[in-house]
Amino acid sequence: MRVIGLKCRVCGREFPNAPLYACDNCFGPLEVIYNWEFIAERTSKEKVEKGPKSIWRYADLLPVDTLKPVDLGAGYTRFIKADNLGEEIGLKNLYLLDDSTNPTYSFKDRVVSVAVTKAIEFGMKAVGCASTGNLAGSLAAHAAKAKLPSYIFVPRGIEKNKIIQAVVHGAKIIEVEGTYDDANRLATEIAEENPEWGFVNINLRPYYVEGSKTLAYETVERLGWMTPDQVVVPMGSGALLCAIFRGFTDLERVGFIDDNKVTLNGAQPRGLPIAKAVKYGGNVEPVKKLETIVHSLAIGNPADGIFAKEIIKKTGGSAEDPSDEETVEAVKLLAKTEGIFTELAGGVTIAALKKLVEDGSIDSYDVVVAYLTGNGLKTPEVILNYIPETIQIRPRIEEFEKVVVA
Ligand SMILES: *Cc1c(COP(=O)(O)O)cnc(C)c1O
Ligand SMILES: [Zn+2]
Repeated sequence: MRVIGLKCRVCGREFPNAPLYACDNCFGPLEVIYNWEFIAERTSKEKVEKGPKSIWRYADLLPVDTLKPVDLGAGYTRFIKADNLGEEIGLKNLYLLDDSTNPTYSFKDRVVSVAVTKAIEFGMKAVGCASTGNLAGSLAAHAAKAKLPSYIFVPRGIEKNKIIQAVVHGAKIIEVEGTYDDANRLATEIAEENPEWGFVNINLRPYYVEGSKTLAYETVERLGWMTPDQVVVPMGSGALLCAIFRGFTDLERVGFIDDNKVTLNGAQPRGLPIAKAVKYGGNVEPVKKLETIVHSLAIGNPADGIFAKEIIKKTGGSAEDPSDEETVEAVKLLAKTEGIFTELAGGVTIAALKKLVEDGSIDSYDVVVAYLTGNGLKTPEVILNYIPETIQIRPRIEEFEKVVVA
């Protein structure tokens, strides 16, 4: 078996392989303990390379023992060398891992595919989550495939496209008056009352977050089994950044890379706790009011904030906190240089990348990978206010020639 059990990330107390998430000693979050000897004996680069073109090519390094994953095809998304954008911002070796092409158009498919598979392994009767938007659509789709009912808690006022996407798959959407943090608190209470339900980012969280490690695996595989010098990761709760770090470390454990010297940089909208603490000093303090248009990253009380800050510091990285205007400009810059329309979280990442190059944290010859975690078509209403109007004419060539000067 690949999974030995769970371990508290704060005090180290160990727990069985079960839907648990908080330590009964210190309330710290739990993480998966793997049987690395068992895994190293079975996995190899050649086996990975022959695997399916999805996250399940790394099945040996994921926390499930089941042979039949709930798989809509998450992962193994576009990995491109972004020379146009690189030239624009001063980088010679810039790569983008573009998760806007995942089955439900965000990186959340990676975590959900693992978590719903785990829910089936545990024999759970339903699945649920608290979501800032992308998780909702992804969970609804994977639950449909797994033939499980799903209950999804979102804050009022998230983007309409994200609600539609979840509802169409048959999920029950519960809009909660308040922020994501309020929705998450309520969902946590409900998870406590219903142990037969797998709330992917609550009682399945230790397993769920492991799906994000595949971003690190793909990065290294697509670079020809080399590690990049630096990566830039968008942060909401900080879970993704922590998982990418563990992903690089895992590859070292199984001998796919020599040693993990990747520098991790975080990107978060201005005013949110993790980037604030890293950039301006002090602790990761929760904030109540979330004043950003980037809803997918709007988490005021980030579960992995302290750990994300530690990893950024430990690997010699930085954090940047672009404003909403800088974020929108970055979405447009990426679209115009690389032909990729990313959602605002991707804008935060590209805006942060640009700042990191400007202030010298990233060198122009560094091999850099930036993660684009969602698709721009999910949040069109936000971008609509920042793009030029269309040209409207009657179907006559004179009218066309009048408005367009060649
Ligand atoms: C969820 C999400 C993230 C990362 O969130 P974490 O909570 O830090 O793991 C990044 N980008 C998008 C688009 C997301 O939906
Ligand atoms: Zn503990």
